[in-house]
Amino acid sequence: MSKHISNILLIYTGGTIGMIKNPKTGALMAFDFDKLQKNIPELRLLEHKISTISFEEPIDSSNMNIRYYQKITKMIEDNYEDFDGFVVLHGSDTMSYSSSVISFMLENLSKPIIFTGSQLPIGDLRTDAKENLITSIQLAGLKENGKSVITEVGLYFEYKLYRANRTTKLNAEHFEAFDSYNYPPLAESGVHLNINYPYLKKVNRRKKLLVHQDLSDQILVLKIFPGIGKEVLAHILDTSHIKAIILETFGSGNANTEDWFIHLLKKAIKEGKYVVNVTQCIGGSVNMGHYETSQDLKKIGVISGKDITTEAAVAKLMYLLPKDLSPKVFKTIFETSLRGEMK
Ligand code: ASP
Repeated sequence: MSKHISNILLIYTGGTIGMIKNPKTGALMAFDFDKLQKNIPELRLLEHKISTISFEEPIDSSNMNIRYYQKITKMIEDNYEDFDGFVVLHGSDTMSYSSSVISFMLENLSKPIIFTGSQLPIGDLRTDAKENLITSIQLAGLKENGKSVITEVGLYFEYKLYRANRTTKLNAEHFEAFDSYNYPPLAESGVHLNINYPYLKKVNRRKKLLVHQDLSDQILVLKIFPGIGKEVLAHILDTSHIKAIILETFGSGNANTEDWFIHLLKKAIKEGKYVVNVTQCIGGSVNMGHYETSQDLKKIGVISGKDITTEAAVAKLMYLLPKDLSPKVFKTIFETSLRGEMK
């Protein structure tokens, strides 16, 4: 692998990676990004040229929202021509959501956008932040024949680079906090940086970057459970502000077959709402019609989320809802992989 010097832009949004302990309260709070660099002298050893920009007020990722997604995307768009790759430092709690949304907002990417963060602050003796950050920069800067190797939105954490919109945060304590059950890692870092070439997203470098800034928040995630109440469901589905419901179902997309349940969903669909079937399982796919318990869902026009994560389903709906598509086209597009988020 030949070495190239790449221009990397580090975008600091907040999260544990750049936090310090408030000596008075003991609570973790965000600190000035300049200090983050001072804490990692190793950055100077990298062959790449690193520039940084930061949110004026770094945030805990629990506070991420559409406005911030637009801000991150704008930062990337404004700097797209001047840099070879981007590393977004982000809190791990909602990193799968944000990176999934950004993957939809940026169409025809030909440069890497690598999200990373850490479980322990950068100043902590046992921190995981340094390896995560340094390898993310290396991956963002990786080129072959003068071209970026990774041309999609990735998430790097604890020695693995994943396709971002395939990930879920699975552990609040382990350094290995993320996984991607339905898609193999794009790269693994050990003594060598092993790239899983067949699984990288193919790129058409002639196509120009398209940025989609319009997002919708009229989405509800509804995790069903055995014994879910009719009145509760009726009340929730009656809300006119909701345009799409992600129904987290059992196993391969199964749910209650009682008349009232199917009737309420059918009514919502008739009213123009979209219902997307996503499994509660962390791996595997929805296969409506496979069991009797999902046949009616298919009949009434529920959209199959196939093997998409809930995080990516939220992101895809945020991106698709403002596009004003006819229900038929919406269903077809949702059931088609746009950024490698489903099979
Ligand atoms: N609460 C933090 C956040 O998501 C946790 C982290 O950074 O890992 O912003």
